[in-house]
Amino acid sequence: MMINTNLVIGCGLSGVVIARLLARSGEKVLVIDRKNHIAGNIYDYKDENEICIHKYGSHIFHTNNENVWQFVKEFTDFNTYMHKVIALIDGIETTIPFNINTLYEVLPQSLASRIEDKLLKNFEYNTRVPILEFQKQNDEDLKFLAKYVYEKVFLHYTTKQWGKSPEEIDNSVTARVPVYISRDDRYFQDKYQGIPLNGYTKMVEKILDHPLIEVKLNTEYNSAEFSDFKRIFCTGSIDEFFNYKYGILPYRSVNFKFETHNCEFYQSNAVVNYPCNYDFTRIHEYKYYLNDRSKKTVIAKEYSQDFKLGKNDRYYPIINEENTKLYEKYKKEIPQNVYFLGRLGDYKYYNMDKAIERAMELFEEIKSNGKS
Ligand code: UDP
Repeated sequence: MMINTNLVIGCGLSGVVIARLLARSGEKVLVIDRKNHIAGNIYDYKDENEICIHKYGSHIFHTNNENVWQFVKEFTDFNTYMHKVIALIDGIETTIPFNINTLYEVLPQSLASRIEDKLLKNFEYNTRVPILEFQKQNDEDLKFLAKYVYEKVFLHYTTKQWGKSPEEIDNSVTARVPVYISRDDRYFQDKYQGIPLNGYTKMVEKILDHPLIEVKLNTEYNSAEFSDFKRIFCTGSIDEFFNYKYGILPYRSVNFKFETHNCEFYQSNAVVNYPCNYDFTRIHEYKYYLNDRSKKTVIAKEYSQDFKLGKNDRYYPIINEENTKLYEKYKKEIPQNVYFLGRLGDYKYYNMDKAIERAMELFEEIKSNGKS
């Protein structure tokens, strides 16, 4: 029937990128999604106050990959936004990742100055040191700082975010936010950063706007129909694809509590982290991203929780030995013309640029070995 058509399951970033690449090479693609909107978890929309809301939490595009940047630029312009994260530590609003500026903001000047000298003697300037690495020191002052940062920045935030302490989660997760031997207050150091000027949903709309791409929303996949397609690209979770026959792959989910406030600004920055206080991890204030003008402001308090089948959405794979083993067990059974990709499909904590890079690599792989 549609044997010349590719089926892409999931209309999030990974799905739409692979769809566009296939279409560009002259292949037909059907993209389906069970949700009633495109763009997956990067979905955003303008609310009644003309504020662009990131429904599934703040998304800031950043990359060093020229190919990825060229790809997205074809579908949207970006502003020149450089993301910063403020955290409330000991009642003081300061910068995350913890850097030399943070040091001076939270500690008495003489102590900060002494510690700065020692930091510069022990670490190369501009290096990013993971907290679990940073703790391995002998000097008393640096030990004090490591303990301070561990407790004030990582311990409670990570416990709220993952339900586990920093030692219990994969090192790569806490390493995303290092101790930064620098005065650079930005959250990311990538060459290219920004927010799509008309939002992510519009960007995705453009990626999908190709005569060889068809999109069907509110549509579940039906494996009985797989033989009708040339290839299947699944960006959903692999355990679901196999009917959970080896068990459920764990994820963390997030619950956003949205509030509209009758003031121009609610907080001093787009994201404020609360590593020591409250049950939420952070508060997003959306109007900062595109400089939206409104007398009101919309914020979202982010509460982390376990993913529960049928109750909430999957946001973060929980990377550890046991879960990776389970993923690999499923992976061995992937049929010949089926490919998995994306945060859920690969069970990897991809940033947006990495999700695009992965889709590009998969496309190249398929085209170069001619496997279908
Ligand atoms: N993290 C933390 N305190 C912070 C910010 C981050 O402990 O103030 C840790 C936490 O474990 C988190 C991880 O670093 O899950 C990665 O943070 P990132 O901001 O990259 O998370 P995302 O924005 O992807 O949720």
